[in-house]
Amino acid sequence: MTSAPPTLLTDRFGRTVNYVRISITDRCDFRCQYCMAEDMTFLPRAQILSLEEVQEVARAFTELGVGKIRITGGEPLVRRGALGLIEAIGRLPGLRELVLTTNGSQLAQNAAGLKAAGVRRINVSLDSLRPERFRAITRVGDLTQVLRGIEVAVATGFARIKLNAVIMKHRNDDEVVELVRFARDSGTDISFIEEMPLGFVDGRDRSEDFCSSEEIKTALDRDFTLLPSPETTGGPSRYFRLAGSDTRVGFISPHSHNFCGSCNRVRVTAEGRLLLCLGNEHSVDLKRVIRSHPGDTERLRQAIVAAMDLKPERHHFDLTAQPVIIRHMNATGG
Ligand code: SAM
Ligand code: SF4
Repeated sequence: MTSAPPTLLTDRFGRTVNYVRISITDRCDFRCQYCMAEDMTFLPRAQILSLEEVQEVARAFTELGVGKIRITGGEPLVRRGALGLIEAIGRLPGLRELVLTTNGSQLAQNAAGLKAAGVRRINVSLDSLRPERFRAITRVGDLTQVLRGIEVAVATGFARIKLNAVIMKHRNDDEVVELVRFARDSGTDISFIEEMPLGFVDGRDRSEDFCSSEEIKTALDRDFTLLPSPETTGGPSRYFRLAGSDTRVGFISPHSHNFCGSCNRVRVTAEGRLLLCLGNEHSVDLKRVIRSHPGDTERLRQAIVAAMDLKPERHHFDLTAQPVIIRHMNATGG
């Protein structure tokens, strides 16, 4: 990886886009309640970008000055050939930071390979430390496997690993203190995420379960001293430092603290759709560009540059209404 040229991607509101999240699959071995319906239909193989096409898209972004790529999904590590793809992306000139979001189920066996591929930081989703509850939230997940994945990843020597926890009332809001203790004791950071209304999920009302970052922070203040920190990882988290440790505690608050003003990122779905905003449908079909003009990298770059004009100013999430965004988070790429 080398130093990147100045980014060429700027939107109508003067925001510079220097970060892309690429979903390499919509499939997943978990079925988290907030992310998916229990009975999900996944895309047919031909509809998702091939490994080569993903690489082509990643290259186009780096050529346009994007220095940071997050590999996500679905669960990125369930895609066959994921490691080879990640390695190829890690070699792209201009890329400064390659990071990954995973549910951790396959992390133990992949940590060394990911490190060798140039992945610098890893986010692992962890919503509960209680095996039965973890199984209930993920519907199928095995907590032991995920904890083992985190342990191996820490031992592998990634720059700070971050845990991501979506907190829901009556489900896991009573665990926030335990989760922070776990982060502190395992030498990781942790971010608490407010649930977003992406796609229909069965069996629950998102507005009833909503737990704001402020409520979580209040609960944590009883047990810990959280010192405001100006640190940022280029994402939407607001950070605090846990006094007496290296652990940072972040809050991703799409409802209570709108972060759109400083948005520097776009997403590419597993289908090759360039999404300009998580909370809006504005998008451009990059797969169509690639498949109708194979090898025409200039056309692909032009399509990406032109798409910047579609980036909306902000999202408007409302948990009490029917989801406006029909796509689930696994299709979007978190
Ligand atoms: N499978 C990987 C994982 O779980 O980390 C990567 C993809 S997942 C879609 C990325 C992140 O999105 C996870 O941290 C997950 O908790 C979060 N997420 C999924 N659905 C969400 C929702 N409706 N609201 C807020 N966060 C959500
Ligand atoms: Fe899978 Fe991640 Fe969605 Fe859970 S949040 S169902 S692990 S994609």
